Amino acid sequence: MPGTKTGGGSRTLLKALRRVLAEPGDGQARLDKVVRLVAGQLVAEVCSIYLKRDRSRLELCATEGLHPDAVHRVSLKIGHGLVGRIAQRAEPIATSNAQEAPGFQYIPETREEAYRSFAGVPIQRLGEVLGVLVIQNRVAREYTEDEIDGLEIVAMVIAEMTEAGMFTNGEEFQPIPQVRTQPVEMVGIAASEGLAEGPAHLHEPRVMVFNPIAENVESERARLHEAMTALRGDIDDLVRSDEIAATGEHRDVLEAYRMFAYDKGWLRRLEEAIESGLSAEVAVEKVQSAARSRMERIADPYLRERLHDLDDLANRLLRHLLGAAGGAPEIQAGAILIARNIGPGELMDHAGQIAGIVLEEGSLSSHAAIVARALSIPMVVQCQRVTRETNPGDKVVVDGAIGAVSLRPGGDVLDAFHQKVVVARQAAEIYKGLRDKPALTLDGTMIALHMNAGILSDLPSLEGSGAGGVGLYRTELQFMLRASLPGRTEQARTYARVLDAANGRPVIFRTLDIGSDKLLSYMKRVEEPNPALGWRAIRLGLDRPLLFKMQLQALIRGAGTRPLSLMFPMVTEADEFRRARALLDEALEGMKARGREVPSTVRVGAMLETPALAYASDAFFAQTDFISVGGNDLMQFFFAADRENERVRQRYDVLNLSFLRLLRDIAIRCDRLDVPLSFCGEAAGRPLEAVALAAVGYRSLSMRAASIGPVKRLLREVDLNEVRDLLAGAEADDQTSLRPRLLDWSRERGLHSDRYTR
Ligand code: PEP
Ligand code: MG
Repeated sequence: MPGTKTGGGSRTLLKALRRVLAEPGDGQARLDKVVRLVAGQLVAEVCSIYLKRDRSRLELCATEGLHPDAVHRVSLKIGHGLVGRIAQRAEPIATSNAQEAPGFQYIPETREEAYRSFAGVPIQRLGEVLGVLVIQNRVAREYTEDEIDGLEIVAMVIAEMTEAGMFTNGEEFQPIPQVRTQPVEMVGIAASEGLAEGPAHLHEPRVMVFNPIAENVESERARLHEAMTALRGDIDDLVRSDEIAATGEHRDVLEAYRMFAYDKGWLRRLEEAIESGLSAEVAVEKVQSAARSRMERIADPYLRERLHDLDDLANRLLRHLLGAAGGAPEIQAGAILIARNIGPGELMDHAGQIAGIVLEEGSLSSHAAIVARALSIPMVVQCQRVTRETNPGDKVVVDGAIGAVSLRPGGDVLDAFHQKVVVARQAAEIYKGLRDKPALTLDGTMIALHMNAGILSDLPSLEGSGAGGVGLYRTELQFMLRASLPGRTEQARTYARVLDAANGRPVIFRTLDIGSDKLLSYMKRVEEPNPALGWRAIRLGLDRPLLFKMQLQALIRGAGTRPLSLMFPMVTEADEFRRARALLDEALEGMKARGREVPSTVRVGAMLETPALAYASDAFFAQTDFISVGGNDLMQFFFAADRENERVRQRYDVLNLSFLRLLRDIAIRCDRLDVPLSFCGEAAGRPLEAVALAAVGYRSLSMRAASIGPVKRLLREVDLNEVRDLLAGAEADDQTSLRPRLLDWSRERGLHSDRYTR
């Protein structure tokens, strides 16, 4: 095709294509016209379009030149033959001797043996391959770079049309595969159990483009420049702003954005794509697809990570080009939120509306997952490709207990899902029956079960769950829900309401635990290379005594004359505890001096979340009123494995024998020193783990409300002496984890432990 580099040739072809696409006719007729047109314009004897029928197969959907009977009859596996290879690698293949080319496969139905030269390009949209466009010629000929370029441009337009459903007939049976119409089963990591069914809401909806071909190159260029200026302005503002945390972005990501946004090469490539006759939107996608396939071949994980930044930037530019049409629609009640990742604050913003959450990234131990569990919103994390595979509004069912997600489920999957809902209701009835029964093991050990909470809407479950009280009230969640710092009076009102709702049952308030992944939009974010090991929790409280004291005063006021229990998060050295306690004493004295009422009793505990505190002196333990083991953080520091990073988090087990030895040592010490001990990490809510904790000496466990029933049910079925024997045996045999033996034992005994496996 002559003149593609200057855009003249492809512009003529695209103009003709626009005319064809505007003509009335069904999807098949349109496709047939496209192949005829492309074959004619590119002087090829064959032009064929293969589209993905499902994840693994391409189907010949239209051809000019190959045997017409092959259409919709021939299908190729991704990775097989030249066409399959193009789809797999997302790269063009051109050869003057197809039969000799590596990977060639002869398909008799097409009668293609007559054609020697072959050129094919992927039909792709933002890195997602939807099909393959091929031309063939009888004579052996080398296709020029310009010709391949032209073919790629046509493929871009076909991709947009495919995505927009232009090749379908609007009927139930579609001869032409539509993008993302097939049911898809996915498995991620179970992060919050529960069953949910609803329409998909994409956190970042895919942009739809209905004008792939430029009507006027000049005006498209002007639109691009306008959008680019707006995009650069946004990013400069973000980088300049003090409130980066409010956007949920990290500074290094924004710096990477800025670098890409000002990249001259990017702008040049976009302009060239417009020059070739594409609209500004499709030009952005074309350049992005090329960048993606280049970067996907890079082995360096850091650079590959930057792919996300590039995608985000391209999406932002597209939204500027599309204006209001590119905005996210309102979230529908009962929707399943599909996102790449989400922070705990954002999750709480949507909490009232959503029935379930599926994330492509995320982690089981992240605070977003904890919030989801607190709110009983089923959640699956690490569900790869889910944002790409889902259309807005698609039906989605989520089984948060096993991490299963079904997109556009068929009748059988839905029936099985509804069956699970019935079984879950029956189990809930059983747990209800246990509500007023004690968690007493067969050997006569009584375990106190408390619930974790953090937002007022948690508290109604206190009554129904049978929890003895609130073992961990995460006060920071209230702070995260707000746009500005709540004042002392407002805080005090919240704490008073929590105690009212507890109706005399004990509540342990944990003072502000912010930092790491718990960010307050209204607090300046401090850049730290490793926030999990950074300035957070009690460290921040002690360095910001005004903020900390304000909370302590609010807690005292909220309690009135009722007993008050509170604990400090992530105490690492005894001195931190003493200093925090001294601030509390000052606050109490101040209240008394002003003649205000003070709580009848004040109990002050330390959260044991760092291995360092486990080895603090006996004197320190004796100074505390109680110790609460925060197993989530303790695990991440013990194993040196970031709780937010699934790749490393998953490698280590709470039932690892070294970790159990640490937990047992803590229990023995607290017992000897007569310090009340509890465990409030997520592991307490998993039945098998809860049994192991009880066996090593924990008599008080705090978990989310929904876990109390299953944990109590199992505890009532076990003899802890047997578990201790299993542990001794596993230690003697130098096992790594107690889990395999515990699982075998519980299966042999037919115990109800299968709610979670890990
Ligand atoms: C913990 O670390 O175990 C804990 C209970 O605190 P959080 O999960 O809020 O950090
Ligand atoms: Mg913690």
